[in-house]
Amino acid sequence: KSKHRIAVIPGDGIGKEVVPEGIRVLDAAGRRFGIEFQWDHFDWSCETYRKTGRMMPEDGLRQIAKHDAIFLGAVGFPGVPDHVSLWGLLIPIRRTFQQYVNLRPVKLLEGVRSPLADVKPGDVDFWIVRENNEGEYSEIGGRLFAGTDREMAMQESVFTRHGVDRILRYAFDLARTRPAKHVTSATKSNGIIHTMPFWDERFAAMAKSYPEIRADQYHVDILTAHFVRNPQRFDVVVGSNLFGDILSDLGPAVAGTIGIAPSANLNPEREHPSMFEPVHGSAPDIAGKGIANPIGQIWSGAMMLEHLGHPEAAAAVERAFASVLAASNNLTPDMGGKASTREMGEAVARAVERA
Ligand code: NAD
Ligand code: MN
Repeated sequence: KSKHRIAVIPGDGIGKEVVPEGIRVLDAAGRRFGIEFQWDHFDWSCETYRKTGRMMPEDGLRQIAKHDAIFLGAVGFPGVPDHVSLWGLLIPIRRTFQQYVNLRPVKLLEGVRSPLADVKPGDVDFWIVRENNEGEYSEIGGRLFAGTDREMAMQESVFTRHGVDRILRYAFDLARTRPAKHVTSATKSNGIIHTMPFWDERFAAMAKSYPEIRADQYHVDILTAHFVRNPQRFDVVVGSNLFGDILSDLGPAVAGTIGIAPSANLNPEREHPSMFEPVHGSAPDIAGKGIANPIGQIWSGAMMLEHLGHPEAAAAVERAFASVLAASNNLTPDMGGKASTREMGEAVARAVERA
């Protein structure tokens, strides 16, 4: 029997509601496929911040460094500035553990309504590969002349050859495993004239070493329009930290709802734990009501199973939530149903037993 120690960080808001459903479904998959999970809970959140002045203890990263993976809900809540919760927890985890790939599938599933007319399940099926360690999210910069009419803020972006090449290589390697064999790069080298031309150069150089892969690029502004008008066009889309972040809220919206979108923060070299979390945040507007859609968390759990070396269990979880969505009688309100978070989680857990 294979055994895994997982660090669980439910976080804030609906994170605390959807994480138990993810665990319920993974435990069901574990029973079926002979996998045992040890779930170690860490109550790091904005509440912790209000009590202690820190999102996590000083040695927090050390406490989870030896786990096989991290299963996170969402962090951030009104009362604590978003940059505090992000830089106090999520970004240190991503960077310290070199989770430089943020992988986000965009897939229109049976039973899920896209806001776009004329797209059917199967039409939308691509991966967003977001750079997760550098780029536009940097601490370099500052503010000057506060309170005067010359007040200014500056923010530097950081693009290293090492950092850019490794995310591009990941995207091309991923495309190699796909039938369409196509990589699209998000750029903005017409307006951002240092970092983005560098990104384009590295993309062209990487494309040369993958002659079997079709490579193209779009400025990110028109790319957003293509996501809406021609989502069928994409296979693997690679972008910087900021562009990848924005595209990966838009992609799932095109594929129905952000409530089902999963993500994996991967350290591909496996020197450190990887982290699995839904794309959505803590949704303060619906927190505490028990109506959040748990599929994003459950699907993130399937990605974790895959990463831990259990592709069959991962596939069973995916079939299970796909069948619950397709049957459409156990859906949360964001999908037009009346089910609670827990009812939907239980339906998926039951479905895993026969998926
Ligand atoms: P959000 O994703 O929390 O919510 C956006 C909208 O989508 C809301 O109307 C919400 O009700 C809805 N929604 C999101 N997830 C849902 C689900 N599972 N089921 C049903 N509806 C769902 O984004 P936001 O409002 O911009 O951010 C809220 C807080 O979350 C902020 O503090 C933000 O910083 C934080 N945040 C955290 C993460 C993370 O932990 N990775 C990601 C994004 C936002
Ligand atoms: Mn985001």
